[in-house]
Amino acid sequence: MHPLDGYSPCPSTDGLGVGLDEAADRILINDLARHARSTESVVQAAVERVLKRGWYVLGEEGESFERDFADYCGTTHCVGVANGTDAIELGLRALGVGTGSRVATVANAGFYTTTALLALGALPVFVDVNWDTKLMDLAQLRRVVDGERLDAIVVTHLFGLLHDMEAVLAIAARAGVPVFEDCAQAHGAVRDGRRAGGFGAAAAFSFYPTKNLGALGDGGAVVTGDADVATQLRRLRQYGWESKYQVGLGGGRNSRLDELQAAVLRAKLPFLDGWNRRRRDIATRYSQEITHPRVQCPPVHGEEFVAHLYVVVCDEREALRARLAGAGVATDVHYPVPDHRQRPLADLGLRQGLAATDDLAGSVVTLPCYPELSDAEVTRVISSINTW
Ligand SMILES: *Cc1c(COP(=O)(O)O)cnc(C)c1O
Repeated sequence: MHPLDGYSPCPSTDGLGVGLDEAADRILINDLARHARSTESVVQAAVERVLKRGWYVLGEEGESFERDFADYCGTTHCVGVANGTDAIELGLRALGVGTGSRVATVANAGFYTTTALLALGALPVFVDVNWDTKLMDLAQLRRVVDGERLDAIVVTHLFGLLHDMEAVLAIAARAGVPVFEDCAQAHGAVRDGRRAGGFGAAAAFSFYPTKNLGALGDGGAVVTGDADVATQLRRLRQYGWESKYQVGLGGGRNSRLDELQAAVLRAKLPFLDGWNRRRRDIATRYSQEITHPRVQCPPVHGEEFVAHLYVVVCDEREALRARLAGAGVATDVHYPVPDHRQRPLADLGLRQGLAATDDLAGSVVTLPCYPELSDAEVTRVISSINTW
């Protein structure tokens, strides 16, 4: 077993600069420098392999990563693209979403799916979220499916919590529309023995550096069990080419995952489950040990949660954030402005029935939660809240 597997994130007590200055005592919302140190040897080997080969775009590293990642997700096809937003846009296009399509989605997930829908000329049909899970509310989805014409449903496994896909798929089947999964925060989450990305007609992943599986820059992928969808995606990501310089398909563009990123992602993939376990253990400690009456924690979850973000709810958000900032603990807000209130959509009148989405946008707070946090740091975050 590689030393990186499981519970050996870069310790904060190994003398690597910690304690040398005040900044080292601060707990960041994410610490990519620690992640880089803990993955240095495998990443360097991957980068050197690509440099020696001298082949940078669409080659054997990309193909190997696509095979490994499709296997990991339990799907048959994976197509690497330039980023997660492109993965949503091109993935939906391959499912037939285009100008005038109506697509059910949530408004609390950072505008990424909405960006993709607007680029496609499609209209988002916002469904409110469930207050407890912060995921698309199933009763609301049922109401929308029964009441409106829809062409697709996008389910976002927000914060790393894999939705109850069996229930979502049953509702979608009533309307006969495909379900697309946004797995950008849920790499490796498992429910009923199946991983995120293995339920829908297709699914998008992002490999932005802070994601549970992160590249050294931008990257993304679509996974699918449908060979025709995969073939279309391979065309869409490269100008619509059917073969070199032969454009067989409109709506294409340049959106490729390069060899360097693919090699790095492939080198990191074997450690993803260990990192997810560590994230979940931190989240479990938070949920069990944060006892402040004004801070609502998510419940303790099993493998269906990969703790991409640990988000609590607090009506006095600014006071809580100030308290933690004073204790040297960084926080963030995911996300402060719901999609229907962002400027490009503000005048479209898509605001009906989004009470939970609106309420949560004013009260969610994200705490540090990443594999490289030490136990002592987790304890400090907990006590800073409990003594507030
Ligand atoms: C990060 C993210 C995306 C977009 O990924 P990019 O690679 O940044 O384009 C999409 N959806 C969700 C839920 C995300 O967190």
